[in-house]
Amino acid sequence: MSARILIVEDEPALLRGLKDTFASKGYEVLTAPDGATGLDLALSRSPDLILLDIMLPRVNGYEICRAVRERGLEMPILMLTAKDREEDIILGLNLGADDYIAKPFRLGELVARANAFLRRSRTKPAAAFRFGDCELDLAAHKLFRGGAEIELTAKEFKLLEYFVSRRGCALARDAILDAVWGNSVIVTPRSIDRCVATLRAKIEPDPREPVYIQTIRDIGYRFEPGE
Ligand code: CA
Repeated sequence: MSARILIVEDEPALLRGLKDTFASKGYEVLTAPDGATGLDLALSRSPDLILLDIMLPRVNGYEICRAVRERGLEMPILMLTAKDREEDIILGLNLGADDYIAKPFRLGELVARANAFLRRSRTKPAAAFRFGDCELDLAAHKLFRGGAEIELTAKEFKLLEYFVSRRGCALARDAILDAVWGNSVIVTPRSIDRCVATLRAKIEPDPREPVYIQTIRDIGYRFEPGE
């Protein structure tokens, strides 16, 4: 069965281009030229993925994100944003978007990102997760690298577990703090950066040029385990 993609975009030429591109890859494509139609289709047709413009007439992309998540729908939402101000991106992520791509983007990159999200949402969470020469045993709470166990602190394990569960997604610092540290202790965004640094030293081939835990400037991090 082909995946169903909803594209919400008010710029007609871009909407047409995106529709043709995804249709030619065999996807079932739903399109909406404004936010109200987009929200309606998102709720009534349960697409497998939503490509969502933010600045839209009638109902904007933020409101769509919020409404979709409030209904408990969990399909990936990829924001198409003309804005690259970090506050706007962080707001979208906090309202439930999984990632963003800034306009103008290359179609090839968007298709690759969409494919990765769709593949991931079809694979069931496993007891162990492999990336590179690492294996994270989620049941035993252990990390192995090249077969040897690597000691992780409780926070490092929790952070890595969170990254794995949200792999490929742009993660704002606030969301990471909430998920890993909760709100019971005094922590700052610096706590995340320190924990990321020690985790990188344990899992990255070259911690100075990280490939798995990527920094998104002014926003946070994205865990990219590769294929
Ligand atoms: Ca727009």
